[in-house]
Amino acid sequence: MTVFAAPAYDDHEAIVYVRDPAAGLRAIIAIHRSRGTTAGGGTRMMTYETEAGALDDALRLSRGMTYKHVMCESPYGGAKAVIIGDPARDKTEALLLAMGRAIDGLGGRFLSGEDVGLSNDDVMTMARATKWTVGQGGMGADTSPMTAEGVFHAIRAAVAHRLGRDDVEGLRVAIQGVGGVGMALAARLAAAGAYLWVADPRPQAAAEAVAAFGATEVAVDAVSALDVDIFSPCALGGILNDATVPRIKAAIVAGAANNQLAADRHGAALHDSGTLYVPDYVANAGGVIQAIHGGADGGGNEVARRLAAIGDRCREIFARAEADGIPTSEAADRMARERLGAD
Ligand code: NAD
Repeated sequence: MTVFAAPAYDDHEAIVYVRDPAAGLRAIIAIHRSRGTTAGGGTRMMTYETEAGALDDALRLSRGMTYKHVMCESPYGGAKAVIIGDPARDKTEALLLAMGRAIDGLGGRFLSGEDVGLSNDDVMTMARATKWTVGQGGMGADTSPMTAEGVFHAIRAAVAHRLGRDDVEGLRVAIQGVGGVGMALAARLAAAGAYLWVADPRPQAAAEAVAAFGATEVAVDAVSALDVDIFSPCALGGILNDATVPRIKAAIVAGAANNQLAADRHGAALHDSGTLYVPDYVANAGGVIQAIHGGADGGGNEVARRLAAIGDRCREIFARAEADGIPTSEAADRMARERLGAD
């Protein structure tokens, strides 16, 4: 396997392989663009079938982080770290401290938050070995509600564009994953009069959504193919793939999960089938917005204004996609690259 020839390699500025045998640490840190400041992104911990799979995840996620920052007018660049291992079995204090030392060795080129497989407490443990983490105070607050609010703005923009209406009342929405973001989004949509379908492998999470919002629970493997107006992926990435895309009946796909497209061509497939896809890194920027602008007081009007701007950004993407006759995923990537080029 050669890194420069990896399919997801996009002139990444640096790819750092980290190994600490005593601590059981194997990790890859991918810095896509630092934009003259610091590249921000989470550290995730997962089992990967192959090292190439871990590299691919780090490369794609870090590029997505750059695009996310640039599209929400953040000054930061994008990076991502992946720790190869099972968080339930392999995550130890020694491993987290070793990861903290590795981040510290980059001298501020990479600023890490939490991601899949790591909790805020885990980031706090890493923070004992480096100051280059976000995991405390306002910066470490739960970003899920603000991410959900941003997704709600994205959904409203998509509904206006695709369905010609200003509200979501009476619309049918299927939410895949009712964790931090999915549950907050469910609350927002239910309050606005939408009908909900939810799927989650954690029975208590789905049951909570059923009890609180009158949602209907559906099987995990059925949720993407429901006959609804909106499908909202709020669990893991890669959900828009060869198996699911041909079965999607929703007019709109808009959710919080990172890297929803298994490959770029799935954005084109959605376009071809007439489904309006809201690019994930545009819809889910609320967490980054809160982390940067939230502060100890939550950020008030400034955060609210920037969350609402997610809707404006969606409208620009839809217009660009229509004008150029290209998928929304491609329109967003082009806009992000143009903005990067202008740095
Ligand atoms: P979370 O871990 O709180 O929730 C994820 C939920 O998805 C869990 O309830 C889990 O049981 C469920 N799930 C797992 N596999 C599933 C499957 N196959 N089908 C249905 N449900 C499944 O995570 P979160 O913070 O809510 O984030 C959700 C997604 O949004 C993730 O992809 C995350 O990377 C992304 N995201 C989150 C934020 C944020 O601020 N939290 C910001 C940007 C992007």
